Amino acid sequence: MEYYSQKAAGITPYTPGERPVKPLVRINTNENPYPPSPDALAAACGVAALRLYSDPDAMEVRQAVVSAEKATGVALGAENVFVGNGSDDVLSMCYQAFFPPVGAEDKPLLIPDISYSFYPVFANLYGVAYQEEPLDEKFAVVSAGYLRPNAGVVFANPNAPTGIYKPLEEIVPILEYCLHRSVVVVDEAYIAFGGVSAATLLSRFPNLLVVRTLSKSHALAGLRVGYALGHPDLIEGLKRIKDSVNPYAVDYIAQKTAAAALRDVAYCAGITARILATRERVAQRLREMGFEVLPSSTNFLFVTHEGVDARRLYEGLADGGIWVRYFDMPRIKNFIRVSVGTDEEMDVFLERLARLLVPYGREASKKNKKIHILNTES
Ligand code: PMP
Repeated sequence: MEYYSQKAAGITPYTPGERPVKPLVRINTNENPYPPSPDALAAACGVAALRLYSDPDAMEVRQAVVSAEKATGVALGAENVFVGNGSDDVLSMCYQAFFPPVGAEDKPLLIPDISYSFYPVFANLYGVAYQEEPLDEKFAVVSAGYLRPNAGVVFANPNAPTGIYKPLEEIVPILEYCLHRSVVVVDEAYIAFGGVSAATLLSRFPNLLVVRTLSKSHALAGLRVGYALGHPDLIEGLKRIKDSVNPYAVDYIAQKTAAAALRDVAYCAGITARILATRERVAQRLREMGFEVLPSSTNFLFVTHEGVDARRLYEGLADGGIWVRYFDMPRIKNFIRVSVGTDEEMDVFLERLARLLVPYGREASKKNKKIHILNTES
């Protein structure tokens, strides 16, 4: 007897990055390598009111987001902010709240063919028909593909796993096309590490929802706090879904900690600067080793090597206790995604990588010459 519902049996869930028991270096889930703000840690420990339900409106976090936005020149009110249990939670609610809008049931949701692998998972879970728009040959999102009848648009900017940022002027035509028709969700999980936020477009586009997370920029992946910025009508749509599922989804500790982290702007800027410096150093070193490194506006690097089989490379690294991410998917089969860790972690990674490439010497960088990592024990 099958106890699952047809729905549970029929879906393909998202696959999180591996969590080996004792990794030497784990740089496979784009976590921040530095600790969260001391203010955030103090707030987490100072929590007194666990007896009580958390604020279903997460007002302290929303106010902290409003202040942080104000500091960047974006004027918003608490009515423009929605807080969820991680941005995956917020994205999940977007699918239920906005896709497809009333009257657009025959049109597909549009997502990039290479992007965050949760987007099609949500679509399948919630029964939203979707179509994938191919990235161009340089892995950029092509705006023209989204200028057609749709039930909504979701993409990440900067994109993952490519790391590539799409300038705002290229996003505007999509927002203009969808205005009064459908919601455009811009997932800015990595915006702290590069690019200008689409939040600057919110006053022009009531159909834009910007989704962010504290998991990467604020080193709080384990806390599970994400948020959305948008027109009050969109915020109300998300609230209607949340209050129909789990009104207290963001717990008390999470709210106190997140608000303190958001207020500590200087700390966040400091750890971000360190990550960017490490990213550039590692990218340079990888290029010297013959890798093609896609231009990253994120806290990870997406890299390929013409002469090396990426899966074998991934396996060779894992054998040595170094965990990066490999996606067995069309077009990106020969890439690995490497999160930017501390300088020490990246040195261990680079050293191991260099040893894996040694048997091939200069051959590894020769064009069109397919070679394989053989000596994974080296
Ligand atoms: N969007 C993108 C593009 C991501 O890479 C991630 C992290 N896996 C998320 C959203 C979700 O982040 P979280 O749920 O931790 O806020």
